[in-house]
Amino acid sequence: MTTEAQAETRGFETEAKQLLHLMIHSLYSNKEIFLRELISNASDAADKLRFAALSKPELLENDSELKVQIDFDGENNTITISDNGIGMNRDEVIANLGTIAKSGTAQFLESLTGDQQKDSQLIGQFGVGFYSAFIVADEVEVLTRKAGDTAEQASHWKSKGESEYTIESAEKAERGTTVTLHLKADEKEFAESFRLRSIVKRYADHLSIPVMMEKQDFGQAEDDEENKDKEETAVEYEAVNAAKALWTRSRSEVEDDEYKEFYKHVSHDFEDPLDWSHNRVEGKLEYTSLLYVPGRAPFDLWNRDAARGLKLYVQRVFIMDDAEQFLPLYLRFMKGVVDSNDISLNVSREILQKDPAVDSMRSALTKRALDMLSKLRKNDKEKYNSFWEQFGQVLKEGPAEDFTNREKVTKLLQFTTTNSTTEAQDQSLDEYIERMQENQDKIYYLVADSLKAAQNSPHLEIFRKKGIEVVLMTDRIDEWLMGHLTEYEGKQFQDVSRGELDLGKLEDEEEKEQQEESEKALEGLTERIKNSLSDRVNEVRLTHRLTDSAACLAIDEGAMGAQMRKIMEASGQAVPETKPHFEINPEHPLVARLDKEQDEERFGDLVEILFGQASLADGGQLDDPGEFSARLNKVLLQLQ
Ligand code: ADP
Repeated sequence: MTTEAQAETRGFETEAKQLLHLMIHSLYSNKEIFLRELISNASDAADKLRFAALSKPELLENDSELKVQIDFDGENNTITISDNGIGMNRDEVIANLGTIAKSGTAQFLESLTGDQQKDSQLIGQFGVGFYSAFIVADEVEVLTRKAGDTAEQASHWKSKGESEYTIESAEKAERGTTVTLHLKADEKEFAESFRLRSIVKRYADHLSIPVMMEKQDFGQAEDDEENKDKEETAVEYEAVNAAKALWTRSRSEVEDDEYKEFYKHVSHDFEDPLDWSHNRVEGKLEYTSLLYVPGRAPFDLWNRDAARGLKLYVQRVFIMDDAEQFLPLYLRFMKGVVDSNDISLNVSREILQKDPAVDSMRSALTKRALDMLSKLRKNDKEKYNSFWEQFGQVLKEGPAEDFTNREKVTKLLQFTTTNSTTEAQDQSLDEYIERMQENQDKIYYLVADSLKAAQNSPHLEIFRKKGIEVVLMTDRIDEWLMGHLTEYEGKQFQDVSRGELDLGKLEDEEEKEQQEESEKALEGLTERIKNSLSDRVNEVRLTHRLTDSAACLAIDEGAMGAQMRKIMEASGQAVPETKPHFEINPEHPLVARLDKEQDEERFGDLVEILFGQASLADGGQLDDPGEFSARLNKVLLQLQ
């Protein structure tokens, strides 16, 4: 076998190339993370091997102490990170180090702004991984051999991180992966014991795998240097990190910084988490969980196929990434670890789905996660608001998905209301209820496309006048959410744009009498309007929900609202036709004017204009905008 025959130069996939370029240019202020990423990969590789060895113990080849070793050469400016983990075969090297497997990468890259500071934050949430080596190195070599393969089946990958890499067959005596960084001239400082040790301490203390470095003997440093070659075999290594899996330690022993670092390892996130919850459960089921709330939504939060879930360990042995069975879909943003003593070591995804122990853990972890969010809201409103901004829309899937915890999830929802002075969605329903008027028994809300449209909706007029607060809902998911929420804390929800206005006990008798009178005075008008608009509307009726506007549209309780309609139309689904009710304000001078209008043509024009205005105020569109303007101009020209 000739190595040459197997050597191959390949171009990086376009996306990998872009990402590489970007990373090198945006992460230079945080260079040392390359070591965290490479150790993190080595630790994952050890986890994977341990798992594979459960069913194939021979993979361990008499070398069952899994570890990472870091060496450096100050003269040649290299750092080497070696592990005796699972390793990679040639195809895996090409797939893992030459392409970026995450779907949606192209869109992600398009979303970048070119502003390096902003982009470096974005790239952080993407997860930088192996490529971070190129922040400090101008050439990276990977020598790797998959566990179970022969020494001759190893591969040697090499790249300058520009546009291509080479891969050739190689020999490697031990299984696992060795990554060699040829440091850039101005990054020499990293090839130094003290520096490397402090980085390892900082980033790898929480990992269960020992990270070994050459034992230091300060007294004879110079002699050692001279004798190094001769005494190669005598070199001793020691573990630089604590090498105890973080979640197995007791809470009181773990520093916040360690929790944060561990989060970065499990989540591949670059930023700190917002909060975490670490618990050991003993009793019928025994397990430890460590759940994190990330600080920022990943770019693929809305991609249904994106990986989600917790890292699953069974009795400290890594079993799988992204075990999604332990949390419901609406908590898919949570990251973390669960380590169970009850699940069998040779569990598969399919078995997990059927295991009753998993079901119990799932409901306990769901409660734990919701409690953590509830505490976060209570203890740090600012952080909770930032959580809400990132993940609020996902949490809104909760009431529909999780009947058992509906009340708990609903308690966590936040909205803007007519009382808000900023645009932030920061008011809970409990806070709304506390402010409810004495006779108010419903939670009033309005769904609209945007906050501006909501705030200017004619449906709010009577509520403003009476000082009744209304919850404003402007997220795409809101109408759908409200389809699953009929009451909260014993209070019915009432969409203010649906049905006939019913203020219940908030209505006052005197007003009612007055209204009846004005209605009597306009008898016959609704009939005339209905004839004029014919089958474009359902019913024409007088309303008291308006104080300033002349008319508005209202729909029936169960009918599909504008927001759902738009979503369904956009996804190409057939939408049943629903006709609105056209409601007019009997107190409005235009309506009185309309009632007096004898000229049928002008009556028709005025009705069309009122109807058009009502559609627009509702966030709808005019059937024929040209005709609408022409009519409006015609009426305006009649003004003297
Ligand atoms: P990530 O770790 O986020 O998946 P990386 O770019 O760091 O992304 O690595 C890509 C893949 O390359 C890993 O998922 C893993 O399959 C493989 N890999 C990287 N380093 C090693 C290693 N030391 N041993 C075995 N496989 C590795």
